[in-house]
Amino acid sequence: MKTALCNFCLKSGILCQKCSEKIKSGELTQLDLEIARLLVSLENTYPSLQNVHFHKAVEARDTIAIIVGRGDVPRLLGHGGKIIKALGKKTGKVIRVLEHGSDERKFLEDLFAPLSIITINTIWLPDGTTETRVILKGRGDKPPFNIEDLKEIAHKVRNLTLRVEFAR
Ligand SMILES: [Zn+2]
Repeated sequence: MKTALCNFCLKSGILCQKCSEKIKSGELTQLDLEIARLLVSLENTYPSLQNVHFHKAVEARDTIAIIVGRGDVPRLLGHGGKIIKALGKKTGKVIRVLEHGSDERKFLEDLFAPLSIITINTIWLPDGTTETRVILKGRGDKPPFNIEDLKEIAHKVRNLTLRVEFAR
């Protein structure tokens, strides 16, 4: 695991002065620390995690989005989804994995996976703001995630206001 926190702190459960400054200044959050520690604790079981670059974790009610480096998403989703399951169990939340610095389409694809996206377009509102409309394939009766949580995450991570619709 590569993070802005040092390995000593992630493994020991104690924070050195440098890391504790990062938390105090708000550069990193308690949630970042918690998720980074969980990921490190899973490294022995899933060695592919050693190469994962962890950027940040963002929370919305029942969902946690983990933001990782370019190309790292499959490293977390691999192993038959066991890493995600383990993280979900330990946090009691639904886990989503997103790529840092991805373009908008890739961001939305990762956010709504495994559902596929039919269309993405921008809607201009009379007050000059925009909404991003995402049409997902399916009936929308039982999506494998909480849509309101994902909207909140999109807002926190990319400042996007989403409108989510379904079509077959
Ligand atoms: Zn440290």
